[in-house]
Amino acid sequence: MATPEYKPYESPYMLKAVHLAALAEKEREMEANISDLLIAKNEQTVALREENDRLREGLEGIKEEHDSLQRANWDYIMPFVLDALRGEVIEDGFGSSWSAYCAQCGEKTMQIVRPGKVQCAKCG
Ligand SMILES: [Zn+2]
Repeated sequence: MATPEYKPYESPYMLKAVHLAALAEKEREMEANISDLLIAKNEQTVALREENDRLREGLEGIKEEHDSLQRANWDYIMPFVLDALRGEVIEDGFGSSWSAYCAQCGEKTMQIVRPGKVQCAKCG
Protein backbone atom coordinates (compact mmCIF):
# COMPACT_ATOMS: atom_id res chain seq x y z
CA MET A 1 0.00 0.00 0.00
CA ALA A 2 1.52 3.28 -1.14
CA THR A 3 1.94 6.13 1.30
CA PRO A 4 -0.59 8.84 0.39
CA GLU A 5 1.01 11.92 -1.10
CA TYR A 6 0.97 14.90 1.26
CA LYS A 7 -1.14 17.68 -0.26
CA PRO A 8 -1.20 20.60 2.20
CA TYR A 9 -3.79 22.58 0.18
CA GLU A 10 -6.24 19.70 0.41
CA SER A 11 -6.05 19.35 4.17
CA PRO A 12 -9.40 20.13 5.77
CA TYR A 13 -7.84 22.93 7.84
CA MET A 14 -6.28 24.58 4.80
CA LEU A 15 -9.56 24.30 2.82
CA LYS A 16 -11.43 25.81 5.72
CA ALA A 17 -8.92 28.67 6.01
CA VAL A 18 -9.20 29.37 2.25
CA HIS A 19 -12.99 29.31 2.56
CA LEU A 20 -12.90 31.70 5.54
CA ALA A 21 -10.57 34.06 3.67
CA ALA A 22 -12.99 34.05 0.72
CA LEU A 23 -15.90 34.78 3.07
CA ALA A 24 -13.97 37.61 4.71
CA GLU A 25 -13.25 39.10 1.29
CA LYS A 26 -16.94 38.78 0.37
CA GLU A 27 -17.87 40.48 3.64
CA ARG A 28 -15.52 43.40 2.89
CA GLU A 29 -17.11 43.77 -0.56
CA MET A 30 -20.59 43.75 0.94
CA GLU A 31 -19.62 46.34 3.54
CA ALA A 32 -18.19 48.54 0.80
CA ASN A 33 -21.43 48.13 -1.17
CA ILE A 34 -23.50 48.98 1.89
CA SER A 35 -21.34 52.04 2.46
CA ASP A 36 -21.83 53.15 -1.16
CA LEU A 37 -25.55 52.57 -0.87
CA LEU A 38 -25.77 54.58 2.34
CA ILE A 39 -23.87 57.46 0.76
CA ALA A 40 -26.17 57.33 -2.29
CA LYS A 41 -29.21 57.16 -0.03
CA ASN A 42 -28.05 60.20 1.96
CA GLU A 43 -27.42 62.16 -1.24
CA GLN A 44 -30.85 61.17 -2.50
CA THR A 45 -32.44 62.18 0.81
CA VAL A 46 -30.80 65.61 0.61
CA ALA A 47 -31.96 66.01 -3.01
CA LEU A 48 -35.51 64.93 -2.12
CA ARG A 49 -35.59 67.31 0.85
CA GLU A 50 -34.56 70.20 -1.40
CA GLU A 51 -37.18 69.18 -3.96
CA ASN A 52 -39.75 68.95 -1.18
CA ASP A 53 -38.90 72.47 0.06
CA ARG A 54 -39.11 73.80 -3.49
CA LEU A 55 -42.52 72.14 -4.02
CA ARG A 56 -43.74 73.41 -0.65
CA GLU A 57 -42.82 76.98 -1.64
CA GLY A 58 -44.65 76.47 -4.94
CA LEU A 59 -47.65 75.15 -3.06
CA GLU A 60 -47.71 78.24 -0.82
CA GLY A 61 -47.83 80.42 -3.94
CA ILE A 62 -50.62 78.34 -5.46
CA LYS A 63 -52.55 78.43 -2.18
CA GLU A 64 -52.29 82.23 -1.98
CA GLU A 65 -53.42 82.51 -5.59
CA HIS A 66 -56.29 80.11 -4.91
CA ASP A 67 -57.41 82.08 -1.83
CA SER A 68 -57.24 85.35 -3.74
CA LEU A 69 -59.26 83.86 -6.64
CA GLN A 70 -61.76 82.43 -4.19
CA ARG A 71 -62.21 85.84 -2.55
CA ALA A 72 -62.58 87.52 -5.94
CA ASN A 73 -65.06 84.83 -7.00
CA TRP A 74 -67.05 85.21 -3.80
CA ASP A 75 -67.10 89.02 -4.18
CA TYR A 76 -68.36 88.52 -7.73
CA ILE A 77 -70.99 85.92 -6.81
CA MET A 78 -72.23 87.47 -3.56
CA PRO A 79 -74.50 90.12 -5.15
CA PHE A 80 -76.20 87.41 -7.24
CA VAL A 81 -76.63 85.21 -4.17
CA LEU A 82 -78.16 88.13 -2.26
CA ASP A 83 -80.49 88.94 -5.17
CA ALA A 84 -81.56 85.32 -5.35
CA LEU A 85 -82.14 85.19 -1.60
CA ARG A 86 -84.13 88.43 -1.71
CA GLY A 87 -86.45 86.87 -4.26
CA GLU A 88 -87.12 83.95 -1.91
CA VAL A 89 -88.05 86.15 1.03
CA ILE A 90 -90.83 88.68 1.54
CA GLU A 91 -90.57 91.45 4.11
CA ASP A 92 -93.23 93.60 5.72
CA GLY A 93 -90.97 96.61 6.04
CA PHE A 94 -91.23 96.44 9.83
CA GLY A 95 -88.36 94.02 10.35
CA SER A 96 -90.22 90.73 9.78
CA SER A 97 -89.57 88.41 6.85
CA TRP A 98 -91.10 85.16 5.54
CA SER A 99 -90.46 82.63 2.84
CA ALA A 100 -92.03 83.70 -0.43
CA TYR A 101 -93.21 80.09 -0.87
CA CYS A 102 -96.45 78.83 0.61
CA ALA A 103 -95.99 75.93 3.05
CA GLN A 104 -99.31 74.40 1.86
CA CYS A 105 -99.28 74.61 -1.94
CA GLY A 106 -95.53 75.10 -2.34
CA GLU A 107 -95.95 78.00 -4.78
CA LYS A 108 -94.28 81.37 -4.63
CA THR A 109 -97.55 83.06 -3.74
CA MET A 110 -97.08 84.39 -0.20
CA GLN A 111 -98.07 88.03 0.26
CA ILE A 112 -97.91 90.59 3.03
CA VAL A 113 -101.45 91.27 4.24
CA ARG A 114 -100.42 93.83 6.84
CA PRO A 115 -97.32 94.32 8.98
CA GLY A 116 -96.68 91.06 10.82
CA LYS A 117 -99.20 89.06 8.73
CA VAL A 118 -98.75 87.08 5.51
CA GLN A 119 -100.97 84.71 3.56
CA CYS A 120 -100.96 82.70 0.34
CA ALA A 121 -102.69 84.38 -2.59
CA LYS A 122 -104.17 80.97 -3.52
CA CYS A 123 -104.73 79.14 -0.24
CA GLY A 124 -105.64 82.22 1.81
ZN1 LIG B 1 -100.65 78.32 -1.01
